Amino acid sequence: MKRIKLHWQILIALVLGIVYGLLSGEKEVGYISWMGEIFLRALKMVIIPLILSSIISGVANVGTAENLGRLGLKTIGYYILTSMMAIITGLVLVNIFKPGVGADLGFSKVVEGIDLTRDSFGQTLIKIIPENIFIAFTESKMLSIIFFSILFGFFITRTKEHSRKLLTGFFDSVFDVMMKITMFVIRFTPFGVFGIVAKQVNEAGDILELAKSMGIYMLCVLSGLAIHGSVTLPLLLRFIGRVNPLQHFRAVSTPLLTAFSTSSSSATLPLTMEAVEHNSGVSGKITSFTLPLGATINMDGTALYECVAAMFIAQAYGIEMGILQQAIIVMTALLASIGAAGIPMAGLVMISVILSAVGLPLEGVGLILAVDRILDMFRTSINVWSDTCGATIIARSEGEKLKV
Ligand code: ASP
Repeated sequence: MKRIKLHWQILIALVLGIVYGLLSGEKEVGYISWMGEIFLRALKMVIIPLILSSIISGVANVGTAENLGRLGLKTIGYYILTSMMAIITGLVLVNIFKPGVGADLGFSKVVEGIDLTRDSFGQTLIKIIPENIFIAFTESKMLSIIFFSILFGFFITRTKEHSRKLLTGFFDSVFDVMMKITMFVIRFTPFGVFGIVAKQVNEAGDILELAKSMGIYMLCVLSGLAIHGSVTLPLLLRFIGRVNPLQHFRAVSTPLLTAFSTSSSSATLPLTMEAVEHNSGVSGKITSFTLPLGATINMDGTALYECVAAMFIAQAYGIEMGILQQAIIVMTALLASIGAAGIPMAGLVMISVILSAVGLPLEGVGLILAVDRILDMFRTSINVWSDTCGATIIARSEGEKLKV
């Protein structure tokens, strides 16, 4: 019998998870939710050693400072560009549909248990440099880990030949092992997705009721994400990357579905790297540099959502946003998306950055709380989709031959 392809298995698991979650009570969900838990734990287990070994081996193999600088600037420049495009798309839509005008503020819930206090931008930058790298590991401080790994990889190239060969070989091999473990975990994705989705659907309550009251706002975010994901990014793929968008989409469908179910770009990272390297044919050198960085700082979906949500809150409170204010929202939405961690609902917390920048009430977050989990699934998929597009486009610009 022919084996069903993994992405179809995941899709089936997704549908079964929805059905199971809708039909069963809390007790029945308890029977199967462990599958999701084990899967997420396994993914999280892989992430840090994977990022560490992939960046160190990637950077050590990139070689000279000049090469690294070029690749780094290109990658970061590209990521900022696409995030800005996403934000502008959201801004246009939110100005056309005006979802917050006339919104029922009585619907607002109290924000409980969400820490809305944040470091300033300067502090965040300073904290990228870890005081203690082991604390950065135990607290999953991704930017610090990336920073340290880039330094480590770079200075491997500056050591004597004996150490350089030994260390490069060592980290290449650790990376190989981590990818093998990743592929092993990936095989269980359908079970994980089933468990996660059933639990979420079961806990979500009456989705239809929510959709009714928040309909236009949700539609605004979702159509923005759809435009960015199915028009803007494919055009960039086609014309800058000279890549077939449809083929590339097929190549990365497993991580996209996983992003959708887990709402976490970090948890999806192992699958993203595997798919971009093996299915799209991007070299290990580029994947291991661009994707961990992308999962941490490149969040187009989140950026778009931040902008729409902030504008929605302003409209709901009847506060007029002039051009200057909207420009501030655009800039802070970009920063918020860069600063957001690749974990579920991180974007929601970052909204506070924007609200305080333009002087909107922080309680406004309560307005968008109820539907956030659903929107998170979509925006995370777009975040991951954009990372994969970025990796292929950059690989192309470095003259690589791809499979897509
Ligand atoms: N969940 C998103 C991600 O991991 C971040 C967000 O909440 O927007 O990419």
